[in-house]
Amino acid sequence: MRAISVIPGQPGSAELTEVATPEPGPGELLVETLRLGVCGTDREIVQGIHGESPPGRERLVLGHELLGRVREAPEGSDFEGGQLVAGVVRRPDPVPCLACAQGEWDMCRNGRYTERGIKGLDGYGSELVTLEESFAIPVDTRLGRLGVLTEPASVVAKAWEQIDRIAVRATVVHERALITGAGPIGLLAALMGVQRGLEVHVLDRAEEGVKPRLVRELGATYHTHPGDLGEPDVVVECTGVAELVADAMQSTAPAATVCLTGVSQSRTLSLDVGALNNELVLENDVVFGSVNANRRHFEAAGEALGNADPAWLEALITRTVPLERWQEALDKGDDDVKVVIDFDG
Ligand code: BGC
Repeated sequence: MRAISVIPGQPGSAELTEVATPEPGPGELLVETLRLGVCGTDREIVQGIHGESPPGRERLVLGHELLGRVREAPEGSDFEGGQLVAGVVRRPDPVPCLACAQGEWDMCRNGRYTERGIKGLDGYGSELVTLEESFAIPVDTRLGRLGVLTEPASVVAKAWEQIDRIAVRATVVHERALITGAGPIGLLAALMGVQRGLEVHVLDRAEEGVKPRLVRELGATYHTHPGDLGEPDVVVECTGVAELVADAMQSTAPAATVCLTGVSQSRTLSLDVGALNNELVLENDVVFGSVNANRRHFEAAGEALGNADPAWLEALITRTVPLERWQEALDKGDDDVKVVIDFDG
């Protein structure tokens, strides 16, 4: 069988090669990969910016956004052959820390967690993968091949869950949300904001194309200039662009919550930290970071995707490439939102 693998830290080392078929261990499913989503993290691993091979190995199998079909399930399993599944990305640290011990590996306290296709564990970018039943998420047949969006949606479901938990600190009602960035994470954040009944605004550079259309179809408002955004109660920052991160923290309504989800490249900005401090203190604002997702968030993601318009979700996937042309998926076009590799097509 074929797998896409990379030598972490070595740009240009990604290859599609023949590898041995994996043998499922006790409690593991054998899963046929149907579709694999590609995101900025995968592109950075291929560029040698991050990624870590499994211990004692040179290459890492890439990929963490899985939609698969169960080929074999152990005796007495809750899963059966033919069932669609998504795969959780992170595995708890071996200690385990208090968070991992509670199934909240997304909040791991000692950094010794592993992540499939990213940190110390092979990913889902091979024609067959093994997947522990406890890290497999059933995908509703009605969602079908759109189930490839479960992983990115899980990251967003976690961010919104955390925003909701912060909101109960006072009787403040969030009404207006700003999402910065109309990539897959930003658009899914906008979807979940609309599903919560919020007035949603999305800021992105793209003047035309699929991004403004998808935002408008949600009933949200699309902006290309930061000047006309008003004062949001909630900001979900999805770009990691330093200027936008700085603005996101400073231009909010009193008692606002700002959730940072983007990863930045190193960038020095001149920023009045005193003024920022005063804005946060005197307005009771919260700024927090959010990464990864646990099982609860994958389930919430499935629900949010199930409640969305399938045609809207379909349009979010702007490009699908067959496995033979996997390299094209790693180049990001200007109008790309989510790019998917088809393993069975
Ligand atoms: C994945 C997360 C992961 C993060 C950091 C993201 O692309 O969606 O699951 O925790 O990268 O490795």
